[in-house]
Amino acid sequence: MKYIASWSGGKDSTASIILAHEHGEPLDLIIFSEVMFDANISGELPEHIDFIKNKAIPMFESWGYETKILRSNDTYIDRFYRYPSRGKRKGCGLRIGFPMAMKCDVNKSCKIKPIKDFMRGINDFTQYVGIAVDEQVRMERIVNSEMKVSLLERYNYTERMAFEKCRDYDLLSPIYDFAKRGGCWFCPNARREELQHLRTNHRNLWDKLLNLENEPDLIGYKWNMLKDISIHDWDERIYWESRQINIFTCLGRKKEYKVENVKVREVVELLNKKENRETAAGTERIICLTVNNETLGYVTSVKVDGWGSGLIADIGLYLETEREKEEEHKGIGRLKDAMEKVSAAMDILDIVKTEECGKSDDQGYEEMVNAIDEVYEYLENAVSAIETIR
Ligand code: SF4
Repeated sequence: MKYIASWSGGKDSTASIILAHEHGEPLDLIIFSEVMFDANISGELPEHIDFIKNKAIPMFESWGYETKILRSNDTYIDRFYRYPSRGKRKGCGLRIGFPMAMKCDVNKSCKIKPIKDFMRGINDFTQYVGIAVDEQVRMERIVNSEMKVSLLERYNYTERMAFEKCRDYDLLSPIYDFAKRGGCWFCPNARREELQHLRTNHRNLWDKLLNLENEPDLIGYKWNMLKDISIHDWDERIYWESRQINIFTCLGRKKEYKVENVKVREVVELLNKKENRETAAGTERIICLTVNNETLGYVTSVKVDGWGSGLIADIGLYLETEREKEEEHKGIGRLKDAMEKVSAAMDILDIVKTEECGKSDDQGYEEMVNAIDEVYEYLENAVSAIETIR
C-alpha cells in the first residue's frame, strides 16, 4: 500500500502534510499537479509556484518526503485554440476560447488528468486529500470514496485551524496575503482581489489575457462568459478604482467597516485630491445633499462668497440643488407644523396669563414662556436654514 498526498500548495493540503509529519502517518509521496498556461509559462501565480518549488518542497524533503510535480501534455493555450471535436459546436468554425466559469475544462484536462494517469500506474494506494471538517459537502462527496482519506478530518481540523497550522510552520503560500483562495491566474472564477493583484503585479500575464480577448472567432470570446464580464471590463474598472484614494488611506486610518463621523474638512481634502475629483467610473462626482436623512437633491453648484474690506472675514456657502423649488418639502412641512403648535401653545399661555394669572412676576410661568420662546426661535431658524439650502 502506498500513501500519496495530493497537494495544491493551499492551506488545507499543506496542513494535511504537516499533520502527517507531526503524527507519524505513513506518507510515501506528495504529488503536485501544475497547470501550464503554455509550454513555458506556469498557470500558477509566479509567487505561488516559487513558494511550491523553493520553500515548501525543500521543507517536505527535509522531513523525508518525496515530492513529484505532474503536468499534462495539454496546456491552457492548447485548449484555447482547439476546435471542438464533438457537440453541436463541432464544425462551426469557431475555436473553444475561454473556459466556462463553474465548468472549467482546464481543470479536467490539465489538472485532474495527470493525477489520474499517475495513479493508474499504482496498484494499491491511499490518497490523502486536504478537506477540512467544516467542508461537509466536499467531505461527503470526495472522502471515504476511492481510497481517499482526509487527515484534517482524522485530527478534527477546520479550515481556520489548517490556516494557522501552516502559518505556525511558515508554510503559508503568499497568495493568502491578498486572497482567500488559490487558482490559475487566468481562472474565470477569480475574484476582484486576485484580478487586481494580477494586473498590478504581473502586468505581462494580464496583457496576455487582454490579447486573448482580442482574438476573433471564439466560442468563449470573453473571460467570464457566465457572468458576461470581459477582462477588458475589469481592466477599465481596476484602472479607475486604482486612481481613487480611499478615505481611510487619505486620513491615515486603519480600514474599518463601520460608519465613522468624518469632519467636513477631511471630506473636502479627500475629494479635492487629483485622483478623487472624478468617480471610480471616470464621471463627474455628484454630491448629494441630505439633511436629517432627508435627501434634498443633488448639489449642482456651489458658490463661496466673502465679506470684509479686501480681507475675507467670513465665508458663506450657498448651495443649489436640483430639487423642484415649488415642491413642498416634508421636513420643512413638519417643522412648520411644529411651529404652529408652539405658536398656538403660546397664544393659550398668553390667554392664561391675561385672563387667569395676570401676574408677570410668577417665576415658573415666566420661565416656561421663555423656554417656549427659545424653542420657537430655534424652529424658525431651522426652517429658514433649510429653505436657504433648498
Ligand atoms: S483554478 Fe480555475 S482555471 Fe484553473 S483549473 Fe481550476 S477552475 Fe480551471
